[in-house]
Amino acid sequence: MSQGTMFCCGVSWVGADRAHCCRRTGGCGHVFDDAKLWDRHRRYGRCLDPRSIDLVTTTNGLWLWTLELTDHRAL
Ligand SMILES: [Zn+2]
Ligand SMILES: [Zn+2]
Repeated sequence: MSQGTMFCCGVSWVGADRAHCCRRTGGCGHVFDDAKLWDRHRRYGRCLDPRSIDLVTTTNGLWLWTLELTDHRAL
């Protein structure tokens, strides 16, 4: 478990286990909390706007489930 700061293609985030959609490979550059979220924002080889799939962004640019979905998932 690494909590170091990562830098890539103009974005930075904390935690090596985040799922980054790299601009160098044609991605949107967003950083997601986990690989499931990453999967969710990719449809037919294209990036969706994370807001359109009910994700919210933290102040440091990390995309997470909305609170309601987090609660639902925890049940
Ligand atoms: Zn990158
Ligand atoms: Zn993307």
